Amino acid sequence: MAGIYIHIPFCKQACSYCNFYFLTRKELVEPFVDALIEEILSYRSHPFSEQIIKTIYVGGGTPSLLNHQQLKQIFDALRDVFDIDAEEVTLEMNPDDVSVEYLNGLQDLGVNRASMGVQSFDPALLLFMHRAHDPSEAEQALEMLRTANFPSFTADLIYGNPGQSLDQLDRDIDRLLSYNPSHVSAYSLTVEEGTRLGKQVELGRIDVPDDDIVAEHFDLVEKKLLKKGIKRYEVSNFAMPGKEAIHNSNYWRHVNYLGLGPSAHSLFWADNGACRWSNKKDIKLYLSKDWDQLIDEETTLDLVDLAEERLMLGLRTVEGISPGEMKSLYGYELTEKQLEWLIGQQKEGFILLDEDHIRLSAKGLKIADYLILDLISKR
Ligand code: SF4
Repeated sequence: MAGIYIHIPFCKQACSYCNFYFLTRKELVEPFVDALIEEILSYRSHPFSEQIIKTIYVGGGTPSLLNHQQLKQIFDALRDVFDIDAEEVTLEMNPDDVSVEYLNGLQDLGVNRASMGVQSFDPALLLFMHRAHDPSEAEQALEMLRTANFPSFTADLIYGNPGQSLDQLDRDIDRLLSYNPSHVSAYSLTVEEGTRLGKQVELGRIDVPDDDIVAEHFDLVEKKLLKKGIKRYEVSNFAMPGKEAIHNSNYWRHVNYLGLGPSAHSLFWADNGACRWSNKKDIKLYLSKDWDQLIDEETTLDLVDLAEERLMLGLRTVEGISPGEMKSLYGYELTEKQLEWLIGQQKEGFILLDEDHIRLSAKGLKIADYLILDLISKR
């Protein structure tokens, strides 16, 4: 069982906070699609072509900048090379790109999950984020998903923006909930180096909100979604029961995945470990179709590497990790020092321990990254 991720590296404009790999050169879309199809075909005799593909995720960038014909060519090539028996096929889209006809066309291609980049319905916040859409386009896109009877969708929200009040966030959540999403990804705004936002913060032109304010936003999102039966299952992800994202959850479980397109990552299990590689973030090289040169770095992960990564990713989920599973899958056992640390954090209310599970409490999830690093460093 495996998944495929496809990175479509084009956007209309650069959002102020974004550090994904993308370009705004629309004239390269067509040559990119040609190259992508060749990259897919280059996997014909790779062991990946023998795997059963259960999930496909088309992300970016902005996949909805591709038209139906281009997407059809990509899906045809995938079906040609891989053994696809997909439970979940997700495509990321932006509100300003979609129409009911486009959404119907996606369903004909087998896409059964839409990921809509809403982020906010507040005009001032959308301007601050330098998003290409306005609030009415976000509402229309969600309405279109309903009209097109799309099987499932998720929407992204960003909270913890400079100057964003709890009332503003409350209104954003209410507006989103009025479209009955079965899944929501809610992220706190992060300041990344090299982004427009990063530069503004560095120059002192923008102050980011205090941790306490971000924590209040975090709680409000959880409380309001929970009231509608949409439960947190990972730090930034919420779903109605049974609607958790399969593809992303499989990353946490180290299911094999193949990344196609510039900047995409892959993981493939081999004896006693796994091999991880990524494609370079270089469109020129990508368009040259020199696939050997495209691979950036290939790393071999041994079972300890994989176990520590599983700790990091698993503890960000509400399910947590199971020491029994850590032992059977990776041969990994917690040290005395780690066990002592866990008991200390349990007393402080950050960690929940039961028979065979270690989980972060609601309080612990707010500082998940800090706690996880602390735990790993106790080894
Ligand atoms: S649309 Fe998405 S990928 Fe493109 S710049 Fe904005 S956040 Fe980044």
